[in-house]
Amino acid sequence: MYYNQETEKVLKDFDVDPVRGLSSEEVSARLEKYGENQLTTQKKKTLLQLFFAQLNDPLIYILIVAALISGFTGEINEAVIITIVIVLNAVIGVAQESKAEKAMEALQKMSTPKAYVRRNGEIVEVNSKNIVPGDIIVLDAGRFIPCDLRLINSANLKVEESALTGESVPVDKDSTLVLNETDIALGDQKNMAFMSTLVTYGRGEGVAIGTGMETQIGKIAKMLEQNVDEQTPLQKKLGEIGKLLGIAALVICVLMFGIAVIQKRDLFEMFLTAISLAVAAIPEGLPAIVAIVLAIGVQKMVKHNAIVRKLPAVETLGSVNVVCSDKTGTLTQNKMTVTKFYANNSVKNSNEVNIEDPVERLLLENMILCNDATSNKESKTGDPTEIALLDLALNYGITKEGLNKEHIRNNELPFDSDRKLMSTINQYGDKHLIMTKGAIDNIIQISNNIYINGEIKPLTEDMKMNIMNASNAMSEDALRVLGFAYREVSTHEIEPEDIEKDLIVIGLVGMIDPPREEVKDSIETCKKAGITTIMITGDHKKTALAIAKELGIAKDESQSVSGVELDAISDEALVEKVKDLRVFARVSPEHKVRIVKAFKANGNIVSMTGDGVNDAPSLKAADIGVAMGITGTDVAKGAADMVLTDDNFSTIIKAVEEGRNIFANIKKSILFLLSCNIGEIVALFFAILLGWAAPLEPIHILWVNLITDTLPALSLGMDPGDPDVMKNKPRDAKESLFKGSLSFMIFNGVLIGLLTLAAFYIGAVEETGIHGIGALAPGVLKGDGLRHAQTMAFIVLSVSQLVHSLNLRSETKSIFTVGLFTNKYLLGAIAAGIFLQDIVITVPFLAKVFNVNDLIMNDWLIVSALAIVPLIANEIIKIFKRAKAKA
Ligand code: ATP
Repeated sequence: MYYNQETEKVLKDFDVDPVRGLSSEEVSARLEKYGENQLTTQKKKTLLQLFFAQLNDPLIYILIVAALISGFTGEINEAVIITIVIVLNAVIGVAQESKAEKAMEALQKMSTPKAYVRRNGEIVEVNSKNIVPGDIIVLDAGRFIPCDLRLINSANLKVEESALTGESVPVDKDSTLVLNETDIALGDQKNMAFMSTLVTYGRGEGVAIGTGMETQIGKIAKMLEQNVDEQTPLQKKLGEIGKLLGIAALVICVLMFGIAVIQKRDLFEMFLTAISLAVAAIPEGLPAIVAIVLAIGVQKMVKHNAIVRKLPAVETLGSVNVVCSDKTGTLTQNKMTVTKFYANNSVKNSNEVNIEDPVERLLLENMILCNDATSNKESKTGDPTEIALLDLALNYGITKEGLNKEHIRNNELPFDSDRKLMSTINQYGDKHLIMTKGAIDNIIQISNNIYINGEIKPLTEDMKMNIMNASNAMSEDALRVLGFAYREVSTHEIEPEDIEKDLIVIGLVGMIDPPREEVKDSIETCKKAGITTIMITGDHKKTALAIAKELGIAKDESQSVSGVELDAISDEALVEKVKDLRVFARVSPEHKVRIVKAFKANGNIVSMTGDGVNDAPSLKAADIGVAMGITGTDVAKGAADMVLTDDNFSTIIKAVEEGRNIFANIKKSILFLLSCNIGEIVALFFAILLGWAAPLEPIHILWVNLITDTLPALSLGMDPGDPDVMKNKPRDAKESLFKGSLSFMIFNGVLIGLLTLAAFYIGAVEETGIHGIGALAPGVLKGDGLRHAQTMAFIVLSVSQLVHSLNLRSETKSIFTVGLFTNKYLLGAIAAGIFLQDIVITVPFLAKVFNVNDLIMNDWLIVSALAIVPLIANEIIKIFKRAKAKA
């Protein structure tokens, strides 16, 4: 228990100096001794468990039953092959699952929280898992607390402890308390802070008293159960389609079995054929392929600096048509430099500060004292706006360390994006000065005097006008403007609500924050892709508009609105008005939620960026919540669907492009597999219905579905992105997966089925010498003759499907325009498929198992001619499609 001890005692127990923190050597030693600061994860499933999990599937039951029946009835070849297929399928499943899991783990690692720690006398940011007992942790709003702490100082610190206590109202913390009781409930331990709870306000520091499993949350160890498998809408839809197909397969089987009984066929053979039809109807490889394509896509996005936290986001990204973006740091570089300042009623360049002048001197002192950043030669931490202020002062030889010692801070109100102000109270001899900085409009509202030429004068309307003119002039130059004010007080013990009032304005500074270079192009891309870019910022309307114009987001002032103006508009009116708006300035996080809702009410799919503690609601309200990886708080990241590791607007647009491509590729795989399945059903069902001999044996269909089809389907999933994908309008999220593709699928399925039957017929004619349907009668076509005809059908089925995969690469473009060699995986898959097919018929042992024979040259020619038909047919159809599109 540490809550009943003085901080000095706790620090001594942990042998740490609160100013310097631990040394690197000490950290290494303690890391060795106490282990990483992590909650141990759930036990992973063993490979064997994973393997058996794969077998738990109705389709596999059918196969197992088929294998058993085959075995008992002496069809050993059949039984062995089916068993091999079952095992192979499970092995592939296990491999895929562990790959996807590894990818997810890697992603989780990337988004593990970081913490500020004092080590070797400096504040550094470290991975939370490297924290050791005794570390001095620096807390600020928006950050998760990385381990259990005894607080050693605190300023208006509020912590939300619902993860631990269930209480969602933030608790006030106070490091100075010493609780002289025993058995105090966690929620009442106000001088302590616990792992996984969240700082919502204020600042503080604490010494780590427990890490990893030795924390309160570690003891409960409940955190990790949230690891639910998340399925995308597409995957869910596929699940439904799968069920439907399963039912269809059963119906077809029963039907076929009935027909066979009527036709007095060999019932055992028919049973196996019925099973093979069921196998034919269900695209077994599909769920795995979709999962892999999604996983690969997500990994690709990571390379482009976007971490997808929720899988469904990948799909939604493809339909986004409104991108709402923060300005500072996302559209701009967040590299602030003070260029101008205003004091004593005149605007000067930042290199012209006269530190002898009392007003300009106080302006500089305010910049440093009312500031939580650090900046020196070695490192810079904190808000870039504040770093810019420190850097300006450094130019005049004034350091934060020095000034802070002289004028100790003994009270403060931290910055928040609702007030848009920050204040500190500092010791000035036996007096205290309230130092406030923030949005100039807000500063003016809480001030009634101005410090000018060494004198305090009333802040008249004229004076206000002068200030606002100076501010507007800076804003129109795209400068971010910050106002500064102060007041003298006799004590620092002032109620928070009494701090920011009756202030004396000191002056303004203007800082540039240049737009990111790549953003202008991205916004151009958006326009072509039917995506509207919206700027949302806490900054001044004029500054925002100047940058928006520069970037091509807005053209004139009528497209911009401020938070105050928004307050005067009803939600209903806003729905109408947002259609014309592009820039939202001086908004608070609550406005962001209204803005998202208004855009959504117009049927848009909206992405919204956020970084602050209060941004979680708007991130959740958006279809795609995007958090900033660098400047974002843990809260924002936790609420987001996607995290940008570079905070860059262009990354969102790249992710949208990737999302569109992933969706297109998944669609290609699905359409390919389903059209192949239709082909198999057509071939089998018609043959049985018309009373012909079966053109394919179950083994053939299993082989094609599970081996030769899977490779091209996977390769289609890895198709390189369409360079024109961002020239199309976004996909309608409600639109069916098969929109415009149903006829394509059915046409190609029927075509493949007919080609297979044609090969079967040619083979039968060759063998029986009978020209006409009579050649296919079960009584006529049997033994070696049947084997040959089936071989022809088997080869045409698999090779025509392999060739057909090329048709999927583009709906309208010729394969030669797309580039035959642009998807090497696919070419490899086709080559491998044909090679395997050849092996099956030429290696005697395999030929025996598959009940096929080798083909002579002439047969190969016939088979090749038939197999290439789908490509020719689709190329011709595409010519018409293109002509129609042009017209
Ligand atoms: P965006 O929402 O695009 O990131 P922003 O960073 O300008 O914009 P906020 O951080 O909410 O939005 O800042 C809003 C306003 O508050 C700024 O224009 C500035 O006037 C003021 N401000 C920003 N940072 C501070 C700070 N550290 N201390 C005092 N005032 C600040």
